[in-house]
Amino acid sequence: MESVNRVAMAVGRNANTVTIVAASKGQTAAAIREAYAAGLRHFGESYLQEALIKIEQLSDLDIIWHFIGPLQSNKTAVIAKHFDWVHSIDRLSIAERLSRQRPQQLPPLQVCVQINIDGEASKSGVSPQQLATLADQVSVLPNLCLRGLMAIPRPRATAKEQVQPLRVLADLLAELKSRSPRLAGLDTLSMGMSGDFAVAVAEGATLLRIGSAIFGPRAASKTQLKQ
Ligand SMILES: *Cc1c(COP(=O)(O)O)cnc(C)c1O
Repeated sequence: MESVNRVAMAVGRNANTVTIVAASKGQTAAAIREAYAAGLRHFGESYLQEALIKIEQLSDLDIIWHFIGPLQSNKTAVIAKHFDWVHSIDRLSIAERLSRQRPQQLPPLQVCVQINIDGEASKSGVSPQQLATLADQVSVLPNLCLRGLMAIPRPRATAKEQVQPLRVLADLLAELKSRSPRLAGLDTLSMGMSGDFAVAVAEGATLLRIGSAIFGPRAASKTQLKQ
């Protein structure tokens, strides 16, 4: 998978601190296997039914599964059981359910709070104003480990324009860390997709969620991000 290598090279400067999460929605188990063989270990899924089938089919591989799609309360039990990370925490009730439903034999679920960075009605996430309260509440839940923030900025045409929302997210994390000792250890910025990952790395991203730059373009019906 030459494209994987290209992405890895592009972020090579920060290879120790930047992890590629291959956004594998719409991809087959075979395509994920191929990406795994090329060295990727983290995979992100957005649609639960589709994800569960692939998690089962790929259970022989040592994959770290990230849930990066919108959360519904009737799905939390299955997510708590089958995923290692959830990037899209956007309300306390969902976080409480995930913590309660996390199987005791598994390590805490690693979570990020999603920020609706451009205030778009079509996307999930809290506003920057709601962040501190939610982070305080999530950080004390016993079976979750709050790691940081995630955002899906609306696409911008130029690298210069892409910087702005990414910098806002990085600043929000810095602010949050200084809020209390409990939040001081937050270390994760889940930002950067195929169109802006180079800029995101420069702005401090630690988890890049990259789909089409690894797997090629998705089928038309799958390109819409309903977040
Ligand atoms: C699909 C998806 C991505 C990857 O998008 P690309 O533009 O294909 O890299 C990243 N984050 C989320 C939440 C996604 O659903």
